[in-house]
Order: sequence, then C-alpha cells, then structure tokens
Amino acid sequence: MNNNLLVVGNWKMKLGLKESLKLANGLKKKIKRKSKVEVGICPSHSSLYPVAAAVRGSNIKLGAQNLFWEEEGAFTGEISPSMLKELGCELVIIGHSERRQYLGETDEMVHKKTRIALENKIMPIVCVGENLEEREDKKTDFIIINQVTKALQGINVEENDQLVVAYEPVWVIGSGQAINPEDAEHVHRVIRQTLIDLNPKEVVDNNFRIIYGGSVDSDNVTSFTDKKLIEGVLVGGASLKAEKFVNIINAIK
Ligand code: PEP
Repeated sequence: MNNNLLVVGNWKMKLGLKESLKLANGLKKKIKRKSKVEVGICPSHSSLYPVAAAVRGSNIKLGAQNLFWEEEGAFTGEISPSMLKELGCELVIIGHSERRQYLGETDEMVHKKTRIALENKIMPIVCVGENLEEREDKKTDFIIINQVTKALQGINVEENDQLVVAYEPVWVIGSGQAINPEDAEHVHRVIRQTLIDLNPKEVVDNNFRIIYGGSVDSDNVTSFTDKKLIEGVLVGGASLKAEKFVNIINAIK
C-alpha cells in the first residue's frame, strides 16, 4: 500500500532545455531526500534525458507527458514506453484534457496507453474531468464514471502495479481559481466507487491513488490534501518555478 501523498508537476510545453535544467537543478537542491511526499516532474520529451541526469540521486521521479500505445513501429513522431524507460521515466501523464481537446485523444487511446504503461512498469497518471458545460448540466458524475471505466475496464492490475487517477476539472485548469475542495472530494468518492466496481477493494486500496489537479498552489493545497480521499495533486502553472513547487510540497508535509 502506498500511503505517501503524491505531488506531480506538469511542465506542459512551457520550458525549453535550459529552463528545464535550471528548474530541475533548483528542485534537487531544495527538495529533501527523506520526504514522505512522493514528488514527480514531467518535462517535455526533448528535456527528459538531461533532466534525468540532473535529478539523479534525489528522490524526484521523472515522468513524461504522453506515450504511444505500441512498443515500436512506423508511428512517426510518437514515443514508446520502452524509450521512456530508457530515459529514466517512472511515471507518465495519460489523457490530459489538453490532449483530449487539441489532439483528439479518445477514451480508447487512453485505455491503450494506460495498459502499455503498466506492462512496462511505468506508473500511469490517468486524467479525467468534466468541462464547464457538463458541470453546469449536472453531468459531472456521469462523465467521470464513463471516463474512468473506459480507461481502466479490463486492465489487469498486478501486485506491484501503481496507478493514479487525476481528477482535473477542465474548466479550472490554468484559471487560477481551484474548485471547491468539498466538490473535489465528492468526485474523488465517485472515482473510488467506480474503481471498486472494476477491481477488488484491496486492489483499489493497495494499487491506486486518486489525486486532484486544477490551479493548485501553496495557499490552497492543504484544503485538498487534508481530505482523506485526496491523495495528492497534479500541478501545472505552480510547478514551473522551483520555489512555488517546493512551497506546495512543504505546505503538505
Ligand atoms: C494541469 O495542467 O494538469 C494543471 C493542473 O494545470 P494548473 O495547475 O495550471 O491548473
């Protein structure tokens, strides 16, 4: 069972090589080795290799923002799970709403990517979330159950597998205004119940974590992580400066 809270930074397509290295070096200096918080960073693919070298020897885990669902072949522009492994990746963000929105990523693709990540022992962080219209139409629970089910149904979770579901309400990402923590907790409960409908409860307890993402910063983070069902956070904007990201980690210790 993994009781550690998880804090993952999604650097999106925002930092080039020099900036990524500067941030990685800053984080390595500031994040204590013996922390109960599990920390991950997800740079752009082009910076993965040098960032891996920069954070070596720390407890910062390297992650990617995407992967492809085949091992190898004629898939121009894609990156395979074994390529990510070779670069030192231990986790991968899958199905981020920006990819669903701008790159046509479907639930079926999310499913295939999750499956192959697990087969390669890379921890998938599967993003789910409703958009504003869906929330206003009171369809949030339906959307979430559907996305989680389609992503994970039929996936065999093995003893040491670790999976993360990130609840990210699309309408608050990058807005600077996080969702009300009680509303997030409600959706986390819906996700947990969906996972229990798909897997034995011990598997959900031992192998899954459910985290929140959407305009998290050091001022609001504990209003989420203080909730029992919120087991960490996925951070975009506030992960791009070492001090801001470290303040989030320190706030929840
Ligand atoms: C994200 O992109 O996953 C995210 C949570 O972004 P932000 O923290 O900027 O809302």
